[in-house]
Amino acid sequence: MRSFIPTEAYQEPASASTSSRPKTVLVNGGAGFLGSHLCERLLERGHQVICLDNFYTGRRVNIEHLLQNTRFQLLEHDVRQPYDMEASVIFNFASPASPPDYQRDPVGTLLTNVLGAVNTLDAARRSGATVVQSSTSEVYGDPHQNPQRETYFGNVNPIGPRGCYDEGKRSAETLFFDYHRKYGVDIKVGRIFNTYGPRMRLDDGRVVSNFIVQALSNTDITIYGDGRQTRSFCYVDDLIDGFLRFADAGENCVGPINLGNPAEITVRDLAEIVLDLTNSRSRLVYLSAVADDPQQRRPDISRAREDLNWWPTTELKTGLKRTIAYFDALLTHKEVVEAV
Ligand code: NAD
Ligand code: UDP
Repeated sequence: MRSFIPTEAYQEPASASTSSRPKTVLVNGGAGFLGSHLCERLLERGHQVICLDNFYTGRRVNIEHLLQNTRFQLLEHDVRQPYDMEASVIFNFASPASPPDYQRDPVGTLLTNVLGAVNTLDAARRSGATVVQSSTSEVYGDPHQNPQRETYFGNVNPIGPRGCYDEGKRSAETLFFDYHRKYGVDIKVGRIFNTYGPRMRLDDGRVVSNFIVQALSNTDITIYGDGRQTRSFCYVDDLIDGFLRFADAGENCVGPINLGNPAEITVRDLAEIVLDLTNSRSRLVYLSAVADDPQQRRPDISRAREDLNWWPTTELKTGLKRTIAYFDALLTHKEVVEAV
């Protein structure tokens, strides 16, 4: 597969200056993998950050180091319940993301995405906040177009095991655009493609965490199906950069915008790279394919490049090495160094 990592220098967009004005920012799902990185980056920019989470998949350890910061506040709440918040910006990242996590409580997942969107949009409507939604490449389902552009409507099975998540996220997008058209809520919808990095859970069941943990412990690497299905993996820091740029973009920039790394790779090749980087003795084992598993996935990020002047800059091997260092530290009970 062709690797797509532009080599030009990464430039701040003209609008980035507004990003330094301190604001109160709410991060729903802030104790999760992506949410905790987002909270950290917002604090670095001088903002007041409120992290809202019900700890379904989030963990206190992800935000423990932020709790002493006087500009950081933790609020235990479930987005399925209404709430009010005086914030300038709301990032709605509250939803399980790993298939085993979201399939464990499918009704809860659907309601988190639908009621969570309604309650968040209502809060934004009352306070005048900009609300940024973490949508997903899963809105494209098992796509018939590759790469996926934002104009593609997708191929989703509404009654399969992924439906609770896919249709929840699709409904949330519908709600975002209806609140925008009907009530003038300032919205931004970002479609995230597979993102990985430090603070993923050891047992979250996603492919990157599974393969690294299996390789480091020299146990079998579990490939579902024949391993020829593809994904395109984005390192967490790149993804958060994209979201921060999106939040800073003008109110006409509503999306949807794909945010991900277009470097496409088969699951089998990913396993080989992880084996190589860890010097592992693990064997590759082929298990049954999972239902409705998308066979190809790669973002077309032309819109993000044009509207946000954004593209990912972290090569897969570089990001994997940092993630391996993180999991290695976790597995050997070493202190996890935040700088990995
Ligand atoms: P994660 O599971 O680590 O984080 C999700 C967070 O949301 C957790 O802290 C969890 O406790 C919280 N949460 C779940 N249900 C909630 C509820 N009802 N009320 C309040 N909090 C709730 O997953 P992540 O990878 O950090 O994903 C964050 C967001 O990004 C999700 O919305 C996910 O759908 C989206 N996304 C992620 C990826 C990815 O590759 N990581 C890809 C596409 C979309
Ligand atoms: N996968 C795999 N082995 C694993 C975990 C996942 O082969 O131990 C495959 C899975 O079937 C899918 C791809 O890796 O084709 C990505 O899976 P993940 O759960 O990380 O994300 P998603 O399917 O939501 O993109």
